[in-house]
Amino acid sequence: MKDVIIIGAGHNGLVTAFYLARAGYRPLVLESRATVGGCVTDETFAPGFKAPLANAIGPLRASVVRDLSLNGTVSFVRPDPHLVTLSPDGRSLALASDMARTTEAIRSFSAADAERYPEFCAVLQRLGRFLAPLLEMTPPDLDSPAAGEMWNLLKAGRRFRALGKKDGFRLLRWGPMAAADLVGEWFESDLLQGAIAARGVFGTAQGPWSAGSGAVLLLNAAADPVPGGSSVTVRGGLTALAGAMADAARRAGVEIRTSARVARILVQDGAAAGVVLENGEEIAARAVVSNADPRRTFLDLIDPVELDPGFLTKARNYRSRGTVAKVHLALGKLPAFTGVPNPADLHGRILVAPGIDYLERAFDASKYGELPKNPYLEITIPTLNDPDLAPAGKHVLSAHVQFVPFSLRAGAQWATHRDALRSIVLETLEQYAPGIRGTVEASQVLSPPDLEQSYGLTGGQIYHGEPALDQLFTMRPILGWARYDSPIDRLYLCGSGTHPGGGITGGSGQNAAHEIAGRLKARRG
Ligand SMILES: Cc1cc2nc3c(=O)[nH]c(=O)nc-3n(C[C@H](O)[C@H](O)[C@H](O)COP(=O)(O)OP(=O)(O)OC[C@H]3O[C@@H](n4cnc5c(N)ncnc54)[C@H](O)[C@@H]3O)c2cc1C
Repeated sequence: MKDVIIIGAGHNGLVTAFYLARAGYRPLVLESRATVGGCVTDETFAPGFKAPLANAIGPLRASVVRDLSLNGTVSFVRPDPHLVTLSPDGRSLALASDMARTTEAIRSFSAADAERYPEFCAVLQRLGRFLAPLLEMTPPDLDSPAAGEMWNLLKAGRRFRALGKKDGFRLLRWGPMAAADLVGEWFESDLLQGAIAARGVFGTAQGPWSAGSGAVLLLNAAADPVPGGSSVTVRGGLTALAGAMADAARRAGVEIRTSARVARILVQDGAAAGVVLENGEEIAARAVVSNADPRRTFLDLIDPVELDPGFLTKARNYRSRGTVAKVHLALGKLPAFTGVPNPADLHGRILVAPGIDYLERAFDASKYGELPKNPYLEITIPTLNDPDLAPAGKHVLSAHVQFVPFSLRAGAQWATHRDALRSIVLETLEQYAPGIRGTVEASQVLSPPDLEQSYGLTGGQIYHGEPALDQLFTMRPILGWARYDSPIDRLYLCGSGTHPGGGITGGSGQNAAHEIAGRLKARRG
């Protein structure tokens, strides 16, 4: 009989396992893929060419980095400028940590925007600081909050008052607002508006005019209060980070088995009793924690007779529609972007999102099951920070393509649309880096269904569920079940489908471990 089984060795599963081991348990992690890390991995898409699946890391929560001793085992890279956004007129705008440099760059697009940018950064920092502690807490039990939860809410109330009227008002307005309106109140240049609003729609099925895209911007600011988002990566690719996290877990006493797909969670008398693997092996356990997404956990891994029909309906209504594809290119040489004469500026993320209308049109196409003609691209050239990801002198270009529908319009098939998507991405890149097409030696297209197939992401949703206002905090994943628990006794969740949600932060895994350890301890008495 195992102490605790964790289904999935995604980074959150590994973080939960690490903390549970530190709390005195002996977790067994069962991962269906042959490697650990889940989405924290690299795709070897041509001989000698590797592309990290995610372009940037969350960033990881500082306490996770500290506790897993990752600073000693992983080499983090923090490119500065963190973001360069490309303009169709052949120019670009770099957002860097040096405020004078950034405002000077903004001034060539709008003097008024240059004046307002420092204040916007300061507001984002203050609101981010207010929200950050909320990311670290278990969402309160709304029906009967415990004394500790009341205390946390009281503290949040006090901090809210301390924000002052102006920022408090901003916070209340920004959440339900459309990111387009929010940036429109601050800035006039299309390029800057697009760069900042893009964070509000990245990984979502919302356009910049969707109500609530402001909340996604705020959520990002809580973890990373930098306009446009920072661009942390690691040397050795994401595989190096996943390996270091797994090593930290093993050192703490965790057992990890890969190529071990869980087919079913065993339930006895309403409580989790273990799992059955795809090969028929049964493993009994006192508790089961799922790092798989909520829909996969509740709708695929549990016999529906074990869950009440009302809960099953809520689980089916949990939205998990993917809108992201990846295009990886193996390049014979470094591309020359017309608007970015200095290659040193290409080490962070490179954005093709030159305005609100551009983003909204790309979103529009995806609503009708069509590929956007002019896609929102977030590009990195990971070989600039880590030449070992390609053969000497060659480069990898990784394009995150936002607003690519999981389900294509009637009659269209992904089997024939990968080529169309590749062509659209190449055409777009060619506008900003003429000649790039001729340097492509190999490529890979991962559609949303490919992400579902390879990474177990239901609907290809990269965050295990839409980060929308009705699926955040006390409602992530389901109202009444946002505390890492479930209607099945001793069955818990620890993945991105729980608060605070997606991104490579370790936040969900750390919060879940804290909550689960407390509950298991209370049972032991
Ligand atoms: C294309 C893409 C781009 C992204 N870009 C970024 C980015 O730039 N920045 C950022 O911060 N985040 C990004 N993300 C999001 C981020 O990678 C995820 O939110 C995060 O890695 C999820 O971690 P997790 O541990 O919760 O889940 P996962 O990484 O999904 O891990 C879940 C694990 O469970 C396993 N599993 C599922 N079912 C079973 C089963 N039945 N039996 C055994 N194992 C099972 C899976 O194989 C997987 O390993 C991106 C994601 C994708 C897919």
